[in-house]
Amino acid sequence: MRTLRTVSEVRAALRRPRSEGRRIGLVPTMGAFHEGHASLFRRAHQDCDEVVVSLFVNPAQFNDRADLVAYPRDERRDAAIAAELRVDYLFAPTVEEIYPHGFSTSVSVGAISEVLEGEHRGREHFDGVATVVTKLFNIIAPDIAYFGQKDAQQTLVIRRLAEDLNLPVEVEVCPTVREPDGLAMSSRNQLLSPGDRARAAALNRSLQTAQALVAAGQADVRLITAAAETELRNAAIQPEYVQIVDPDTFAPLARIDRPALAVVAARVGTVRLIDNQMLSPSPR
Ligand code: AMP
Repeated sequence: MRTLRTVSEVRAALRRPRSEGRRIGLVPTMGAFHEGHASLFRRAHQDCDEVVVSLFVNPAQFNDRADLVAYPRDERRDAAIAAELRVDYLFAPTVEEIYPHGFSTSVSVGAISEVLEGEHRGREHFDGVATVVTKLFNIIAPDIAYFGQKDAQQTLVIRRLAEDLNLPVEVEVCPTVREPDGLAMSSRNQLLSPGDRARAAALNRSLQTAQALVAAGQADVRLITAAAETELRNAAIQPEYVQIVDPDTFAPLARIDRPALAVVAARVGTVRLIDNQMLSPSPR
């Protein structure tokens, strides 16, 4: 595996494989690798000849400075994991390489960036994501880029971005990888105290409660979200939001008469976590 630091190094390294018609897969990450990341690397390997992983803690998408400072960073460990998983190139640029002096362009995706995560973290969050992902697509020019369903709203922002700007890249969304107790894997989980780590499993439990009600025929979103919130409160977790939305637009639903997405965000101790789960009404 080669570690690349600059845009010109990436372009030089990929010129030959691209000219030989080799398919290039990109997995954008912020590092602190876990099995969720590993699943994307493996998936990229199945479809592509060259796998590029970007490792960049993108300051533009952090609305909370303390979150940016606390974000776990361990490039040496990440490089070892990526090499072990046969990643071909690790693109780990500096902040100055991505945002050089004078940088002043922002990519902003409408509507979908404004609700839920956009509302709670501020507009800048998805603008920061859309801007850095556009840059990564332009720098690496992957055939396919891989993202996790764990960040469901982010995947919609990126699909919209790729479609609206005619970016010549296929966007693949891969399933959420979970800990044995159901907690969605996240780089932020390592910041949880042991007590908070145990409580955090309630996020997934609340989504499972929602799914169980839907499977039993309950269609009233108010009742379902109330039950999910109770599951969180029983673990002394105050949700930022629990909502049931249309999986394609994130518009809130009142009744579940077609597949829907339950989304949750909550602070557990000082750590903000998100999760989501598809809800499928039982066939009648
Ligand atoms: P991050 O490093 O947290 O920005 O994540 C990089 C990519 O990995 C994003 O597309 C995430 O959605 C994805 N990802 C993060 N956690 C998981 C998980 N538990 N399962 C699957 N994909 C994940």
